[in-house]
Amino acid sequence: MTTLRQIELACPICYNRFNSQAVISTNSFGGKRTDFHERAAGAQPLPFFIHTCSRCGYSGSERDFTEETDVSPILKEHVWDELAPKLSSGPVGGSDKYEFAAKVALWQGSEPRRVADLLLRAAWCCVDEGDIEAERYFRRQAAWMFEKALSTYDGVDRDERAVLTYLVGELWRRVGDNAQANEWFDRVSNEITNAETQQWILDAARQQRDYPREWFG
Ligand SMILES: [Zn+2]
Repeated sequence: MTTLRQIELACPICYNRFNSQAVISTNSFGGKRTDFHERAAGAQPLPFFIHTCSRCGYSGSERDFTEETDVSPILKEHVWDELAPKLSSGPVGGSDKYEFAAKVALWQGSEPRRVADLLLRAAWCCVDEGDIEAERYFRRQAAWMFEKALSTYDGVDRDERAVLTYLVGELWRRVGDNAQANEWFDRVSNEITNAETQQWILDAARQQRDYPREWFG
């Protein structure tokens, strides 16, 4: 099962102190989807790895709420202009938290790779929220951002390029764009750096192109 605990955070933007739920322990007994979405048995931990300030909407992981957090005037302005107005009175859902955190990361000038990871997790939260339209929106956003990371020489570690190339294919497949998906699956073989340890990625790309499956294993 997933265990949560209450933590107190101080917002680096507006100095609001608020309580949030954080993950103490979880499991992966729920299996793994072919887009690497790992499932827990019982409650899903994903929404609780990101925290959102209840006053201004600033969002990030626990380490984004420390005194060392880099807060520029531009970031502050973006948060007040674009996130604060979107806060509703109720609790903020997982996909909203990740969407906000992705925006904060962009405004902080984070690497596309990091922004892409947050957008991918927003899509995963939408699966649990049953919001298919938003899920597809975030999958597309994540795919574009991973593509951006892959398009630069040092945006992605050399050894990680094959798996992320596969993932971009799988994201396009899951939004129903098979032509684009297959292009990316076919590119995986060019990105292999270790034939032995990465054979599974080649196999997965071939499988998802020819006989797609929803789950690994
Ligand atoms: Zn705040």
